[in-house]
Amino acid sequence: MKRILDRVREFTEARRIMAMGLYPYFRPIESEQGATVTMDGREVVMMGSNNYLGLTNHPEVKKASQEAIDRYGTGCAGSRFLNGTLRIHMECEAALAHYMRTESALVYSTGFTTNQGVIASLTGRDTHVFIDRSDHASIIDAVRLSFGKDIKFNHNDMEDLEKRLQLYPDKPKMIVIDGVFSMEGDIAPLDKIAELAETYDADVLVDDAHAIGVLGDNGRGTASHFGVEDKIAGTIGTFSKSLASIGGFFTASEEIIHYLKHHSRALIFSASPPPASMAAVIKAIEIIEREPERIERLWTLTNYLKKGLEEYGFNIGHCETPIIPVYVGDNLKVFEACIRLQEEGVFVNPVVAPAVPADQSLLRLSLMSTLTEEHLDFAISKLVKVGEEVGFIEAKINR
Ligand code: PMP
Repeated sequence: MKRILDRVREFTEARRIMAMGLYPYFRPIESEQGATVTMDGREVVMMGSNNYLGLTNHPEVKKASQEAIDRYGTGCAGSRFLNGTLRIHMECEAALAHYMRTESALVYSTGFTTNQGVIASLTGRDTHVFIDRSDHASIIDAVRLSFGKDIKFNHNDMEDLEKRLQLYPDKPKMIVIDGVFSMEGDIAPLDKIAELAETYDADVLVDDAHAIGVLGDNGRGTASHFGVEDKIAGTIGTFSKSLASIGGFFTASEEIIHYLKHHSRALIFSASPPPASMAAVIKAIEIIEREPERIERLWTLTNYLKKGLEEYGFNIGHCETPIIPVYVGDNLKVFEACIRLQEEGVFVNPVVAPAVPADQSLLRLSLMSTLTEEHLDFAISKLVKVGEEVGFIEAKINR
């Protein structure tokens, strides 16, 4: 009979890649996550962080976190529901609701658990949950955890979504999508999704992990970008990207938040996020509102990098945001490229199946507003060198 440890021993793939010297995961960074980072004692240009607005090492953000530790200590020792609500959690929720122009907000300990806590508790046994095939793993897991039925539609394919919505006229329906898709960097057509939702009586939730601080008025996200803020039921977000910390949040009407506070298991049965994180978020929001030029700068750099990569013939798909995929289409080549790029002084992330279909493996580049055009020129030149070497762009004489 099979034992559970058999599956552990049978997993040899990662060790095979390690033996080849091509393992690109768990690479330690020895400094704060700025435009450049230190790895193995060397400076490397950071082209793979989600610190979009460069706020995780902003002096004011760090100071606010330090002051919160001095006042409240390092942890909360309980869940929001019982002894883990500190005054600073409520201040953070008020700041989030104000920033997002919603009635209420609720903080969770990560973006991952926010999806679990929100989706699973709003979904009943007869709820049909429509999810994009490229939705983030935390959405897919949340639907699995819920009692609802999951229905996947093809990535950003509105005809496919409509066909599937038509099949269940009498069921409660919820559509959950990434506002900005975390691997491909494209944007969900939320205006069309909101229209379909209205026609077929569905409620829409948007996971804006990669859109907050990036898209829409003052970085308020995808619904703001499309002018449909009043047509969505709620927005899920994370603090681990533009908001310079760790944790997650949900913004919605007071009625929905009230319900979640009394039904959301990921909230009620898990400890609340630490005070230092709350203080960082409050300060990050203040800076984002005070310095909109950070978002402008992020977009200037995005356009600069996209143009540069296209000029050299890289396949960057339909990316529309500071997440820029460079399609390679072969896992081993992706791994080799990551390792070689780090040796050449550039950090990028590998993305292979199952995060993307196997023939669409890619190098995921993501930008920070604190990078410079010189950093990007350097990164492009190294991508060209490694791309020719590994064979994901064609070598051109006299380039
Ligand atoms: N949703 C999306 C779209 C994400 O990309 C991520 C994280 N990468 C999450 C949720 C989870 O957020 P967190 O890292 O805060 O758990």
